Amino acid sequence: MGQMVAARADDLAAIEAADVGKPVRQARADALALARYLEFYGGAADKVMGETIPYLAGYTVYTLREPHGVTGHIIPWNYPMQIIGRSVGAALAMGNACVLKPAEDASLTALAFARIAQEAGLPDGALNIVPGLGEEAGAALAAHPGIDHISFTGSVPVGGLIQAAAARNVIPVTLELGGKSPQLVFEDADLDAALPFLVNAGLQNAGQTCSAASRILVARARYAEVVERMAARYRALRAGPAADDLDLGPLISARQKAGVQAYLAQGRGLELAATGQIVAEAPAGGHYLAPHLFAGVAPDHVLAQQEIFGPVQVVIPFEDEAEALAIANGTEFGLVASVWSRDGGRQMRLARQLRAGQVFINNYGAGGGVELPFGGVGKSGHGREKGFEALYGFSTLKTVAAHHG
Ligand code: ADP
Repeated sequence: MGQMVAARADDLAAIEAADVGKPVRQARADALALARYLEFYGGAADKVMGETIPYLAGYTVYTLREPHGVTGHIIPWNYPMQIIGRSVGAALAMGNACVLKPAEDASLTALAFARIAQEAGLPDGALNIVPGLGEEAGAALAAHPGIDHISFTGSVPVGGLIQAAAARNVIPVTLELGGKSPQLVFEDADLDAALPFLVNAGLQNAGQTCSAASRILVARARYAEVVERMAARYRALRAGPAADDLDLGPLISARQKAGVQAYLAQGRGLELAATGQIVAEAPAGGHYLAPHLFAGVAPDHVLAQQEIFGPVQVVIPFEDEAEALAIANGTEFGLVASVWSRDGGRQMRLARQLRAGQVFINNYGAGGGVELPFGGVGKSGHGREKGFEALYGFSTLKTVAAHHG
């Protein structure tokens, strides 16, 4: 399946770009990530082992990893192919059957993927795609008594509904609910290395990314320099049609654009350090939004606290490491964080103290990291996807104790 997805990456990218408006280059990267997930989990499938446990005399005790059975997958519209890869890829590799409900705004690559799976020879019934509205198809799937595990990526309120539905059926749940992820830039940071990450990690997919680096925390000594250099990058950014492959495509929907604009309205009065541009040939009435960079934002401002899910970043100054940590940990989320510093002691301290499921040192995102366990703490959710860890989430452990004298 992975090889077939990679061979059709251009077709899948064209479908995704047309469906969700993401620039073709970014859509193609998603298709190749899906292929890589399938390759990784295909390779991992025969490497999940149990253990033997020393026990009382006359016993041999060992563990078996077994599939849950039927797993439900409710996914959002922002990275359909990547999320199918990490979710369905890992679940299938552990021997589960999957029922996937794609987002109503982005169902096409899920359906195209199902056809590829069929052509690849995946047995009928192993993967089922059920498009539909969240409150209908999604709610029905989450509440269905035949589901043995549910994984959900999306908003915090719907995540709560999914967990409540899972509780009624007493099944395990994995929730990936987004964040307000910070990048911490210290006075000894290599700014030339950091700058592309500071901006790109916030604006990839027009900021409609769970792990978007939406808060940039900067040591006072470098603050003016970082704001100016980020602003210069922002002024060069262009938003336009997906097929033109610019820096940003349109947002997914009028509703999403209105939501982001409501946040921008709450940002009136803040220092607007820079905006990007919408290209002249972008059709009027499209859901385009120029990226906005706000500076000097108070850590408790709504724009520094809530997930905006659009092309908006805030820069927040700090005085010392203790304050940087307090601001970084001062939201209800905890998905990703990064530390830009040459000080090894500080890197190690903060890696432990930051409240996040992933911490990056002198980078952000490690290039996607199919192999790296991913997930949150707090309102960012619980459970881990990606990497080997996901295989444990999509399986259950049986202990066998044999008494043989
Ligand atoms: P977003 O804000 O990204 O659209 P949502 O949480 O609304 O996030 O949607 C993520 C996924 O959850 C989509 O597939 C959507 O259809 C589904 N969904 C929305 N509402 C419900 C619900 N009440 N029950 C189950 N799934 C839902």
